Amino acid sequence: MKFVRFATARHPQGVYGLVGGDGLIEVLRGGLFDAPECTGEVLKEGDIVRYLPPVDPPNILAIGRNYYAHAMETSDHPPAAPLLFIKANTALSAHEANIVLPSAAPTRVDYEAELVAIIGRRAKNVPVEEALDYVFGFTCGNDVSARDCQAGDGQWARAKSFDTFAPMGPYVVTGLDPGDLLVQMRVNGETMQQQSTKDMLFNVPCLVSYLSHSLTLMPGTALYTGTPSGVGIARKPPVLLKPGDVCEVDIAGVGVLRNRVVAEAQADGTCAGTMRLP
Ligand code: MG
Repeated sequence: MKFVRFATARHPQGVYGLVGGDGLIEVLRGGLFDAPECTGEVLKEGDIVRYLPPVDPPNILAIGRNYYAHAMETSDHPPAAPLLFIKANTALSAHEANIVLPSAAPTRVDYEAELVAIIGRRAKNVPVEEALDYVFGFTCGNDVSARDCQAGDGQWARAKSFDTFAPMGPYVVTGLDPGDLLVQMRVNGETMQQQSTKDMLFNVPCLVSYLSHSLTLMPGTALYTGTPSGVGIARKPPVLLKPGDVCEVDIAGVGVLRNRVVAEAQADGTCAGTMRLP
């Protein structure tokens, strides 16, 4: 199933919808994890005036250097165990919202296309074989990163947590095998990253199990599972995000997450832009 969360003129606070194969959206009553019911109201995607982040995560967890080729383009060795860091919840952003280049770190902001797992059930000390039972579904994420801060701070929290640096969406897709999905990043239509999730050093079941042995994963937790090779900072010459750029995270079977880059001075102060699908 494919869920989307959005606001319309009739639902300014936001609702969930179930997207059908015909592109029509059935409006749901209730939250994603409480068996939401159909209301009988049907919309077209064109009726959406604003996409909302697909969940309100209790935590945004992320894994660094989880693809060998990316680990080697940004360091000299792959990690021996999943490398966890946390993005602030206030960085959360939606499909078609702007990525705001902060005036505090304007020069070296980078993209990272990632498959994001959404936890659906409280998970603690979960064995690898059962780990996928705790995943509700998957969405697209861009782990936007301020490389100046990442290199200079000694750890990554600030670099990964500027406002708008955690776009997710537009859909949460259930019933998907995350073992071999093509993850792509396009910037202004040009493919910058393109690699399958089968190349992860630690796959999704391994990550969920591993993390659940350290912290409780609550429903709605968003887990960025790492980015493929081809990030902007590792390209020659480096490709860093600038105002006007459009990032598209395209994951097979999951969707396309699109965000435009703006300078802080141009930001309108909201985390969600208005849009209309073609
Ligand atoms: Mg990342």
